[in-house]
Amino acid sequence: MSRIANDNPVAEDGQNQDNIIQPFQLQESGLRGRSVRLGSVLDQIITQHDYPDAISHLVADTVTLTLALSSMLKYDGIFTLQASGKGPVKTLVADMQNEGAIRGCASFDKEEFESLKAGGGLYNGYSLRDLLGEGYIAFTVDQGANTERYQGIVSLEGETLQDSISHYFEQSEQLRTSIFVASAKQDSGHWRSGAMMLQYLPDDYADDEDVVAFNEKTEAERKEDWSRSKMLLQTCTEKEILDADLHTNELLRRLFHEEGVIVYDPKAVRHECRCSEQKVRDVIKSLSEDDRQHAAQDGIIEMTCEFCNKTYSIEI
Ligand SMILES: [Zn+2]
Repeated sequence: MSRIANDNPVAEDGQNQDNIIQPFQLQESGLRGRSVRLGSVLDQIITQHDYPDAISHLVADTVTLTLALSSMLKYDGIFTLQASGKGPVKTLVADMQNEGAIRGCASFDKEEFESLKAGGGLYNGYSLRDLLGEGYIAFTVDQGANTERYQGIVSLEGETLQDSISHYFEQSEQLRTSIFVASAKQDSGHWRSGAMMLQYLPDDYADDEDVVAFNEKTEAERKEDWSRSKMLLQTCTEKEILDADLHTNELLRRLFHEEGVIVYDPKAVRHECRCSEQKVRDVIKSLSEDDRQHAAQDGIIEMTCEFCNKTYSIEI
């Protein structure tokens, strides 16, 4: 099922536009895109932790980028985005199961964070460099034991996570991708985020009949289409992508109306952790007898899931 956003800017079904990934395609150029809008799902992820706002903002961006990037891949398993640094923030992790379960968390040194001086960056006055320092971002797709693990890696560059991800795609000729991400705590105290992404994947859509005349275009025309569409994407503002009252179709129409927009069925996402008592038991089983005794108190090992804060008490 597809629908032209131009003719039908607002969904007839009144479907909630929060917590979805909306795939779309530009008719003139064939470029594929994704829009991500998060409300309550992001808020649940953030509020189960008690992070400073700057770190919550980083987690929100990480979760949102994970949804955008994972949605461009066909996989059956788990997509993970992990940023690691030597600054006060040690890791940012989010992972997405292909059927829609997302989770995310951060680890940081409280004292190091509190001794930071704000210098005007995106994250409550701190930049990516202030918070993570030197480090890298890794993407992993894990499809179980019998398939290859895909991994991409890029060093942390620029002032924001978006800068680093953009840098990754600039290095790769095969993956021409443009992405915009924004997250913020609203006046209500709730978190919202959104992302808009475009990708140039000629092999993937060369014979798509929804696309006008892609095959008849020259390489130069396709390049021109790409730079024009990328510029249109860059006109998306934080206010627009975070506006709960602005329907995604309307936002797509505003950005790309001259290109013609086809929207496909959106994918719902939910917050769900994959931890379980069995997994905790497996971890404990893998410890040496010494470590087990060391970790136990009165014969019980307590382990807290860093993603969802749930504590498991296991008798040994
Ligand atoms: Zn958990």
